[in-house]
Amino acid sequence: MSKILRVNMSDLSVRSEDIPEAYQGLGGRGLTSAIVSKEVAPTCSPIGPNNKLAFAPGLLGGTNCANSGRISVGAKSPLTGTIKEANSGGQAGQYLARLGIAALVIEGLPKEGKLYKLFVGKDKYELSPADDLNGLGNYATVDKLKDEFVDKAAFVSIGQAGEWKLVAASVAFTDVDGRPCRHAGRGGLGAVMGSKGLKAIIIDHAGGESAPIVDKDAFKEAATRFAKAIKEHPVTGQGLPAYGTDILINIINEAGGLPTRNFSSGRFEAADKVGGETLNKITVERNGNPTHGCMTGCIIQCSGIFLDKKGEYVSKWPEYETVWAWGPNCEIDDLDAIARIDRACDDIGLDTIDTGNAVAVAMEAGIKAFGDAAGAEELVAEIAKGTPLGRILGSGAAMVGKAFGVRRVAVVKNQALPAYDPRAVKGVGVTYATSTMGADHTAGYAVATNIMKVGGDVDPLKAEGQVKLSRDLQIATAAIDTCGLCLFVAFPVMDIPDAFNAIVDMVNAKFGLSLTGDDVGSLGQNVLKSERDFNKRAGFTSADDRLPEFFKLEKLPPHNEVFDITDEELDTVFNF
Ligand code: SF4
Repeated sequence: MSKILRVNMSDLSVRSEDIPEAYQGLGGRGLTSAIVSKEVAPTCSPIGPNNKLAFAPGLLGGTNCANSGRISVGAKSPLTGTIKEANSGGQAGQYLARLGIAALVIEGLPKEGKLYKLFVGKDKYELSPADDLNGLGNYATVDKLKDEFVDKAAFVSIGQAGEWKLVAASVAFTDVDGRPCRHAGRGGLGAVMGSKGLKAIIIDHAGGESAPIVDKDAFKEAATRFAKAIKEHPVTGQGLPAYGTDILINIINEAGGLPTRNFSSGRFEAADKVGGETLNKITVERNGNPTHGCMTGCIIQCSGIFLDKKGEYVSKWPEYETVWAWGPNCEIDDLDAIARIDRACDDIGLDTIDTGNAVAVAMEAGIKAFGDAAGAEELVAEIAKGTPLGRILGSGAAMVGKAFGVRRVAVVKNQALPAYDPRAVKGVGVTYATSTMGADHTAGYAVATNIMKVGGDVDPLKAEGQVKLSRDLQIATAAIDTCGLCLFVAFPVMDIPDAFNAIVDMVNAKFGLSLTGDDVGSLGQNVLKSERDFNKRAGFTSADDRLPEFFKLEKLPPHNEVFDITDEELDTVFNF
């Protein structure tokens, strides 16, 4: 990939530049974090003129490597105040890579109240007014843009939440079917895009070409081995294609780590009603498609299509974390209601994890009763309308906890915890506490080893071994995110040594390098170091790398465990 595209919203200019030396050899998260760390003042306002929003495909983007088309989005987060990278599937990553664009960087601020759209094509870049898209959700926005541009383009957009700069706002990406249902959800990056007055980006890859590869034969051979490993592993070859990520509901419930009723229990009595097996069953009964990829080149295909009882499209299959946030954590056992909420969140442009947690906290405050599915949908509608209550809810769980005086609020650095209780899955608790991004399961998915025994076996209920597990996974994840690979390839990578070797071989073949596995580990370490350095300059210290106090004080049924990994141990996670 040959260039960086810089879009200045202050003077409405677009310019292309060669990749500076400092960013050579980086992609995906490695590149967005390098840009933010180097170019953004750590103490700036996240929605002010000095923040920058960077989009980058991974190092393997634009190739035929399986599952390599993720796109990273980076900025200083308005939710956490830390550096942030959230990545997404959809078509945008592959299309940018095919146009030879290593990163798209949005800078400055336009005149207050003005909205724009950005067209990116083969050697053609254009900013134009988008006032007609003002106040539209992502689905209506994309419909209008398809009428104006080629409908085969990839569309990136924000809904109302982004326009209003709510800190749970996401950035939406269209999937293979042109639906804005894939999201860079975490950290409020939609609010940064909204602050820049950028409603949408249209990426037309016509005339683009596959990313250049130095040694095509070696790349093809390694890509074949990699695909074989993905197909051979039971999680990526069988479980995810049939049941989606929602397969985890029954597994985590069985393990006693499924947060229920705002993190007050680890088991949900009606788990099976919202689990992946039920999701698969009703999808087949309604003639829907259980096995569907969110982006070109995905051979795992965890994302099915959810149809209502009449067979009409509602949403993509809600991810496990979405089903959990609105299901067990709000005590809702109705998959149809959860799918409608997923669709609404995608349309408004909201992180389903933070917003679901926000509603669970509101339920604990008595705004609605636990289990009230219709009430939850009403609260989401409040957000869509932009009422004062809706704006509080759309600002995430931490904000709702403060507004309504709730003590049990599961956040780290203001970002809501995902669907694994850290008292019953202690390895992921270490990741939540110490990640550079706030509570984020994807930053170091210790659930795989704690619960599924992938890549080893570390007892989820004991403190021993969790720090090392989280450290190793955080390093590996930073490297995977830099390559643009879907995180689910981590399952074969952790169990099948040749899967990891194949990634190294593909990077070497593509760029004409001779990296070793250790070099790739160093790459992950360097990404984390630059992110930690940004956070330190933003004022964060080890005192911020902690779980909320209630996890140490309240025992979680059924195991009656607390989170007992000491602060001193947590402070050794980044001792490299
Ligand atoms: S495995 Fe799932 S999340 Fe990953 S690229 Fe495929 S459909 Fe998207």
